[in-house]
Amino acid sequence: MTELKKHFAVIGNPIRHSLSPQIHAAFAKEAGLLIDYEAVLSPLDQFKQTVRTLITQKLSGANITLPFKKEAYELASSHSNYAKMAEAVNTFEFKEGEIIGHNTDGIGLVRDLEQNLHVDLNGKKILLIGAGGAAEGVIYSILEKKPNELTLTNRTIEKSNTIQNKMHAYAQSFDVSLNAIEIAKLPHHYFDVIINATSASLNDADLNIVDQVFHKSSLAYDMMYGKETNFLKQAKSQASQTSDGIGMLVEQAAEAFYIWHHIKPHTKTVIDLLRKN
Ligand code: NDP
Repeated sequence: MTELKKHFAVIGNPIRHSLSPQIHAAFAKEAGLLIDYEAVLSPLDQFKQTVRTLITQKLSGANITLPFKKEAYELASSHSNYAKMAEAVNTFEFKEGEIIGHNTDGIGLVRDLEQNLHVDLNGKKILLIGAGGAAEGVIYSILEKKPNELTLTNRTIEKSNTIQNKMHAYAQSFDVSLNAIEIAKLPHHYFDVIINATSASLNDADLNIVDQVFHKSSLAYDMMYGKETNFLKQAKSQASQTSDGIGMLVEQAAEAFYIWHHIKPHTKTVIDLLRKN
């Protein structure tokens, strides 16, 4: 019997830079699956229409990237727990007329930190810089690992305060001290893990983080990939270990692949390949 080819897409604007087609093609090849996966540019004001058109073309699933993750949340007819926590969706599963919204960013980050970079988050002091979609998407997954402390900071501190209020009860249930502190008032002591979830590097902007948050035993992680950011340069000058976000990108894709195909792909070879390129 001939295997039916399934169709997938990543939808964003802009989308040309997306590495998702390459990543899913590599996963499918390794799993022996026949799929096609295309990058779809959606006009900024026509995201919902774009999704509906793709559904009529018998798409089995889609990834959603900037700037549509919030709209994707609104469009989904049901949500995974992680999507509910983030109020954002990066993966759609189209099933029996339903649009199921998932968010795999948090799982992607935590797997990269714990499995690829061998950093156990349990009991650690973590600083998360940024309060946009990427930061909000990973907070619940970090809390689940029961760090000692999670401190949120952002250029616009009101956004960190809002997230802190929203996540307060969950932090309590995991026994995590969850704080929101203005960048200028960050404590002059180091964190075990410092995560940059801002897009400041797009304009080579500095975050104005004090050097003291870094230490030679800490890991500085930038969700951005493809260039050495000012954040990573600053961390290196303090002798911290550093990583870009390519592993998170591959791990969040691996979780989406698992949702669609029920197969866990090997991620290391794909991460190595993308880093080499
Ligand atoms: P958003 O636009 O939702 O949020 C942007 C964040 O960056 C806000 O907190 C904003 O602060 C902050 N910011 C922007 N410019 C500056 C600046 N000049 N100085 C200080 N802070 C600034 O973006 P996302 O949260 O969706 O994405 C953030 C980054 O994470 C992007 O670079 C994206 O590529 C990356 N990412 C990586 C993923 C991966 O798999 N590796 C997955 C998802 C995202 P303010 O609130 O003050 O405006």
